[in-house]
Amino acid sequence: MKTQAEIVVLGAGIAGLCAARVLHEAGREVLVVARELGEASRVPDALLNPVRGKRGTVAPEAEEALEALWDFYPRFGTVRQGILRPVPQSDRPVWQQKLQGRRIPHLWLEEGLYLENAGWLETTPLLHRLAEGLNILYAEVKRLEENTLWLEDGRRLSGKVLVYAGGASGAHLVGLGGRFTPGSVLLTQQHFKQARSYGVYVAGHSLGGSYLPHQDRYAPHQTQPHEVEWLLAEAQKLLGYRPAFSASWAGVRYRLDRHCLKEIPGGFALTGFGSAAYFYAPLYARRLLKRLTGQS
Ligand SMILES: Cc1cc2nc3c(=O)[nH]c(=O)nc-3n(C[C@H](O)[C@H](O)[C@H](O)COP(=O)(O)OP(=O)(O)OC[C@H]3O[C@@H](n4cnc5c(N)ncnc54)[C@H](O)[C@@H]3O)c2cc1C
Repeated sequence: MKTQAEIVVLGAGIAGLCAARVLHEAGREVLVVARELGEASRVPDALLNPVRGKRGTVAPEAEEALEALWDFYPRFGTVRQGILRPVPQSDRPVWQQKLQGRRIPHLWLEEGLYLENAGWLETTPLLHRLAEGLNILYAEVKRLEENTLWLEDGRRLSGKVLVYAGGASGAHLVGLGGRFTPGSVLLTQQHFKQARSYGVYVAGHSLGGSYLPHQDRYAPHQTQPHEVEWLLAEAQKLLGYRPAFSASWAGVRYRLDRHCLKEIPGGFALTGFGSAAYFYAPLYARRLLKRLTGQS
C-alpha cells in the first residue's frame, strides 16, 4: 500500500468525493482515506435547495453553487429538476423581496414558489459513481497531525496536502468546533417525483427534516418515536395526509458558519455544510482546486 500521495483526502462523503473527483480530473494524485462511503451523505434523497427554511433565505452564493452543481452532478447520475415551496400567502411578499435581484429562476404558482433550477437526487448511486476509479483506502483514522494520518492498525499516511472532509463524526480529529444537529428521514412507500419542502421535505422515497436542538459535539443518532410523530404531523401540513413508511434513516448535520473551506495545519478543512452539503460540494471542490493551484 502507498503511504504517501500528493493530496490525501480524509472522508468519502459528498464533500470528500466531489473534491477528490475534481482534483483527480485536474491530474492531481489523490488518495482518499475513509471508514466507509459516506456517512451523513447517505441521507437517502438530498435536496439541492437555494431558498432555505421557512423564511425564504436565499443561500449565500446560490447562483454560483447552482451553476457548479448542474455542471457537475449530471455527469454522474440523474438530477431531478424543481422544488415546490408551498409558502403561505401571507409570507409571499417577504419571500418575493428576498428573491429580487437574485438570479434564481422561479415561478409563483397558486400552490407556492416553484424553484425551476433547484432539484434533488438519490444519493447512494451518486456516491458510488463519484468513487469509481478513485484511489480509496477504507480504514479508520485515529489521529491527525498536520498532513499525517495515523490509522487504527498503527500505519501512517501522509500527503503534501491534507484535505479534511470527515464531516460530523470525524470533527474531533481537527477540533474546528461547530454545531451538530441530529435528524431523521422516513422511507415512504410512495415515490415523490416532485420535491416539496416547507417545514419538512418529501423527495423520492424520503420524508425528512429535523427540529432537535443543536449540540456542541458529535453523538451518533437513532430515530426517536417523537421524531416520527413530528415528521408525520409536518407531512400532514405539507401534503394533507400522512404517508405510509417502511423504515427510517438517522444522521447528524454538521455546520460551520461560512467557513466550509478553511486552512488548517497541513492543508484544508472542507466540511460543515449543514443541510446544504449536496448544494455546495461541487462549488467548494472547484474552489479547493483553485486554492491548491494558487499554492503550487
Ligand atoms: C435529516 C437530514 C436531512 C438532510 N437532508 C439533506 C438534503 O436534503 N440536502 C443536503 O445537501 N444535505 C442534507 N443533509 C445533510 C447531509 O446529509 C450532510 O451534511 C452531508 O452529507 C455531509 O457530508 P460530508 O461529506 O461532509 O460528511 P459525511 O457524509 O458524514 O462523510 C464523512 C466521511 O468521513 C469518514 N470519516 C469520518 N471520521 C473518520 C475516521 N475517524 N476515520 C476514517 N474515516 C472517517 C466517513 O467514513 C465518511 O466517509 C441532511 C442531514 C440530515 C440529518
